[in-house]
Amino acid sequence: MVTKINNDTDRIRREILEYIEPKIYNCYQCGKCTAGCPLSDIFEYKPNQIIRLVQSGKIDSIIKSNSIFLCLSCEICSSRCPQDVHIATIMNFIRNEAWRADRFKIKSISRFYKTFLRIIGRTGRSFEPGLLMSLNFLSGRLFNDMDLALDILKKRKIRLLPEFIKGRKDITKTIKKYM
Ligand code: SF4
Ligand code: SF4
Repeated sequence: MVTKINNDTDRIRREILEYIEPKIYNCYQCGKCTAGCPLSDIFEYKPNQIIRLVQSGKIDSIIKSNSIFLCLSCEICSSRCPQDVHIATIMNFIRNEAWRADRFKIKSISRFYKTFLRIIGRTGRSFEPGLLMSLNFLSGRLFNDMDLALDILKKRKIRLLPEFIKGRKDITKTIKKYM
């Protein structure tokens, strides 16, 4: 089992270096990515530290931390990097790998991703009431946030019924590959 995890983390690092971000060694630890990240204060490892961990092959430490699971994919880190290192892409890649290996540290976030993607796979668009009801059902907190949902519905900010787009079969196929 330990060997399998080691093989996986070696592969993840290799794929980052070869395909995801070959420029990773251009990072000179200036910290501009971390200074701009809205969540760096609550990350166990900050964006510049994530880069250092990938460089030194400590992928497992990243997967065990909360950073990749809380990352918003807002891309501020990548856009601030003077060396054009795509930190957000690296975060996203490791998060996806952790998900595929069922190593999601924060289960509620995993549940959110899966439910959200299932809805997108079926309709081609997000559908907030369906997402809220599914998450409440799965978490056993049936009436969680219902008061907020009613307020939003009254203001007609969300639809009661889902919309289905043309060509959603292609989206379904793509999502199925990752679930
Ligand atoms: S901004 Fe770029 S160069 Fe600076 S620490 Fe972050 S990744 Fe490294
Ligand atoms: S993409 Fe993630 S790591 Fe980068 S600035 Fe946004 S929240 Fe921080």
